[in-house]
Amino acid sequence: MKPTLLIIEDNEQNLYLATYLLEQSGFKVASARSASAGIRLAGEIRPALIVLDIQLPEMDGYAVARALRQNAALSAVPIVAVTSYAMVGDRERALEAGCNGYIEKPINPDTFRSQIEEHLNARPAGGEIQS
Ligand code: MN
Repeated sequence: MKPTLLIIEDNEQNLYLATYLLEQSGFKVASARSASAGIRLAGEIRPALIVLDIQLPEMDGYAVARALRQNAALSAVPIVAVTSYAMVGDRERALEAGCNGYIEKPINPDTFRSQIEEHLNARPAGGEIQS
């Protein structure tokens, strides 16, 4: 049984595509359409990985990543940022906020799953935080 992943994404089409691709790979997928719902759900279900849209209405994804990292139970969960911002420095901003990786929109169905699996497999054993 593959683990449960959480997608925090306010755009229906992106959420549908990401959910479809990950479910096709056998993952269980939980989703939240807002920052606050995503932070709450992450604490409740403790997903194996979080896919985080950076452009959210009430609170941007960087702030969400920082909030998730403040929860000790989630400190080792890989967070993969997804954004359509194509600006220099976004990758660094995402990593500084506590994200482990960065995927640019539009989601590429041919590479999305392998990118996600790469981050899942890179998860340190025993839930230790990599320095
Ligand atoms: Mn969005």
